Amino acid sequence: MERTSIEETIKNIGKKVRVCGWVHSRRDHGKIIFIDLRDRSGLLQVVFQPEAGHPRGDTLYDLAQDIRSEWVIFVEGTISKRPDKLINPKLVTGKIELKAENLEIFNKAETPPFAIDTDGYEIGEDRRLEYRYLDIRRKRIKDNLILRHKVIHFIRNFLTDRGFIEIETPILTKSTPEGARDYVVPSRTHQGDFYALPQSPQQYKQLLMVAGMEKYFQIARCFRDEDTRGDRQPEFTQLDLEMSFPTQDEILSLIEELYIKIVKTLTPEKHISEIPFPRLGYNKVMEKYKTDKPDLRKDKKDKNELAFAWIIDWPLFEWNKDEKRWDPMHHVFTAPKDEDIPLLDKDPSKVHSWQHDLVLNGNEAGGGSIRIHKSEIQEKVFKLVGLKEEEIKTKFGHLLHAFGFGAPPHGGIASGIDRLVMILANEPNIREVIAFPKTGDGRDLMMNAPSKVDNKQLKDLGLKFGK
Ligand code: ASP
Repeated sequence: MERTSIEETIKNIGKKVRVCGWVHSRRDHGKIIFIDLRDRSGLLQVVFQPEAGHPRGDTLYDLAQDIRSEWVIFVEGTISKRPDKLINPKLVTGKIELKAENLEIFNKAETPPFAIDTDGYEIGEDRRLEYRYLDIRRKRIKDNLILRHKVIHFIRNFLTDRGFIEIETPILTKSTPEGARDYVVPSRTHQGDFYALPQSPQQYKQLLMVAGMEKYFQIARCFRDEDTRGDRQPEFTQLDLEMSFPTQDEILSLIEELYIKIVKTLTPEKHISEIPFPRLGYNKVMEKYKTDKPDLRKDKKDKNELAFAWIIDWPLFEWNKDEKRWDPMHHVFTAPKDEDIPLLDKDPSKVHSWQHDLVLNGNEAGGGSIRIHKSEIQEKVFKLVGLKEEEIKTKFGHLLHAFGFGAPPHGGIASGIDRLVMILANEPNIREVIAFPKTGDGRDLMMNAPSKVDNKQLKDLGLKFGK
């Protein structure tokens, strides 16, 4: 007989089942022992009763007396209806219980360092992260991870149905600037050379358009070595997407439809303030809200309101006073509007771009643009942001070269998965929706990373530390 998952036991009244899981709690009522058994799908009450006429010491009931919280057990028995007065309306399995006939203990457990049957907000976060594998046993975190899975599953199906191809791009790569510092990885075989971890798959997805893949997406991990700012993680996940021959409207409409469907399907208790999402010009937004991430909720106390908006018509550059150069508002690959191209030489401050940002309740939920697909214009932008001829060649020669082989007009967007799931799950920060997040200062307390490597490894890599 196969194992039955706990949520399935309700279909088995009067039948024999085998269930496995963790002891959530145990109540000893003298003549009867109750255990709440937990697996991923839920909780089930298991009842152990002494057998009449059996000498004490080796019965199921005696064994059950030893069991403690978080022990991993197997129980075989018969599912029966609970007496009316013992029905628990809060549990899916609240109308039934399992009368134990056979018990096996797979593993005992130490007393956990914190409670698992609470929502966990009361527990110090460092402690929770150190024992994350126990913290994930908590219903709230488990449910968050399941919601995250559903969101990603939905995205994959939605985009696949619309002709997008999911393509993985390298993690060991060359720097792609998104405005942060790179994480670098030393090469053993090419000593003195380094890979960079991608700040985003930006260049790869553009090269996939040159390669003729037309519609690409990826649930992509991005790495940015930024100083700690509240709710950031050194690595995060985004839906990364690129299309050939799109209008900006096509990109916005696609993402808008995706988000509306995610909300309606997965969190129907939430409501979107305005559909279609308002499309607001950057200048007007800055004038009115003094931020490019306005919180447009009608009632900021309503946790179920989702105020999406697009911010468009961005300037291509902003002036960097300290470095005395133009910095891209989005990134260097964003296309200027056609009519403003002559201004690149005359007055870069007046050039508008095809950037589009998606904001949600005052958060940046996504950003992208129509890209430059002509090498002359790309080179001009590289120069305006202060790159020297030689740097352009070593850093982006491959891209300019590729554009010479027939690059289609293209554009795309990336939208944050962590933040979206955080908002859908009503969580206060993204760490609550990431299985193994890092602390604010970039440490993994469970694995104890970052950590030292031994001298042999350093030698193999040709690395030496100065004092
Ligand atoms: N690469 C951009 C980012 O990660 C998104 C894009 O332009 O598609 O923010």
